[in-house]
Amino acid sequence: MMLRLGAVVCLICFSTTLFAQQLSPQDLAAVEKAMKTIRPEQIRAHIRFLSDSLLQGRAPGTPGYDVAARYVATQLEGMGLQPGLKGAWFQPVPLQKAVVAASTSSVVLSAGGKERKLVDARDYVLDAWFASSGNLPAKEPVSAESDVNAPIVFVGFGVTAPDQNYDDYAGVDVRGKLIATIYGAPSRFPSTERAYYSDGIVKARNAVAHGAVGVLSIMLPEDVKRYPWEWLVPQIQVGEMHWLDKNGTPHDFFPELRGSALLSQQGAEALFAGAPRTLEQAFSSARASQPQSFSMPVSAHIHTVSTQTVLQSPNIIAELKGSDPALRDQYVVYTAHVDHLGTCPAVEGDNVCHGALDNASGTATLLEIARAYASLPRAPRRSVLFVFVTGEEMGLLGSDYFAHFPTVSLKSIVANINIDGAPGCFFSMKDVVALGAEHSTLGNEVTSAARRMGYELSPDPMPEEVSFIRSDQYSFVLQGVPAVDIQDGIKATDPKTNGFDVIKKWLVTRYHTPLDNIDQPIDFESAAKGSALNLLIGYEVAQHDEVPAWNKEDFFGTKFGPRHAGSASAGD
Ligand SMILES: [Zn+2]
Repeated sequence: MMLRLGAVVCLICFSTTLFAQQLSPQDLAAVEKAMKTIRPEQIRAHIRFLSDSLLQGRAPGTPGYDVAARYVATQLEGMGLQPGLKGAWFQPVPLQKAVVAASTSSVVLSAGGKERKLVDARDYVLDAWFASSGNLPAKEPVSAESDVNAPIVFVGFGVTAPDQNYDDYAGVDVRGKLIATIYGAPSRFPSTERAYYSDGIVKARNAVAHGAVGVLSIMLPEDVKRYPWEWLVPQIQVGEMHWLDKNGTPHDFFPELRGSALLSQQGAEALFAGAPRTLEQAFSSARASQPQSFSMPVSAHIHTVSTQTVLQSPNIIAELKGSDPALRDQYVVYTAHVDHLGTCPAVEGDNVCHGALDNASGTATLLEIARAYASLPRAPRRSVLFVFVTGEEMGLLGSDYFAHFPTVSLKSIVANINIDGAPGCFFSMKDVVALGAEHSTLGNEVTSAARRMGYELSPDPMPEEVSFIRSDQYSFVLQGVPAVDIQDGIKATDPKTNGFDVIKKWLVTRYHTPLDNIDQPIDFESAAKGSALNLLIGYEVAQHDEVPAWNKEDFFGTKFGPRHAGSASAGD
């Protein structure tokens, strides 16, 4: 799962339509037989290979990732599935990478004629992207430089949400200024709105719309607790990537913003020295969801030097053609990210971030789900695409690229089912968490499939993790496609296991470290059952007459979705 800072509270359970369509007895027998082909040993073998040190953490643009991609394509070919791109398995994703040259970059605060040079990695960490040169024709690394020196205006969360009657920018003019903002969004917003407005790209766009020229970010102490500074910094220092369009222009690049730094608590205290309100007061207002803004008696000079490289990393795509001539031009799209972080700070002498659960497990189970589909005596009515994506950890890049340049028309994609962390790996579960199911009629298929598998559905137990916008399903949501991501539940079948504690502990001790490896306890039997659930959900979507649709007045549906409940039917 990608690291994207923010916060959300999502406790709304979804309701389901009565009399949702049922599978025929023949279809049910066929899919139940296919579900049984998903074997725990097969999942374990894929994870063992993909998380091996030889693959060096599968970072996009590295040989390790390319070996993983070949492995996935080889498996798919052996299953008898069709390549997704006119005979080819790989969709090349052009990427531009930027890494900060810390020794030649700097952040200096000036107030009352006095200068204070902040210390890299202790007080701040720079965002490499803001020294991007924009279009980059060269294959060789290029050095890029950016400079901004301007007064600072504090703008709370930096959120403008007319639908929530909330605007941190009200009453201040930030044209030509640097803004200082707090990560996240007001907790009084409904869950999904809070997740959306805490997205860094949404905030950057808002800053540009108000005329800002750069950004200084600070974090609430409670967020620092969840994302410790020492853990965060190396992940930012490895650099940033964006995908390139056909003209070689990086996507989601804001040339107006000429510098961006994340400040530590120490850096934030330096920033607030002499401010009209204390840092504590600013945090209190943020916690109370009160819009706030004021000019600060300080300016900042941000100088960013970065090394930029253009590279390519493929998505891997396989197709199973549907069996119903009237529906086979519609697609259910499964996704799982193959990439991980590459190398990272060593733990117990190991500096490979193996990404066994994140997301060799999702890749492994999607391979077995694909194999199960291929074993069906008759393909489902709609076609199914299996899309293994790159660049998730760098900002959902492979899935966002696919959603912008789909290999079938976007209109024909009826749903996305994403797997990030195969559900069930931690322990045998009584329940699952269906991220996104409350937004669309996909909730019907999720409910029916979960019931059939004997799983209860639980609300998101860790809403502050904003998981719904942190994995590849979000790339589809942004293009209007209803999506769901099944995550682990917290109720273990073994009463001695406290599921919530197991997952919480994993997030603190193994997530995005070398300890997410094949040697950790993994319940492969339970992962096979979780995979069968994902198979069944997609199969039901592929078989049902109705096209999945956003729920009426759903936030994401209203903002992005062309299809609403009742407005579309099979054959559209
Ligand atoms: Zn991750």
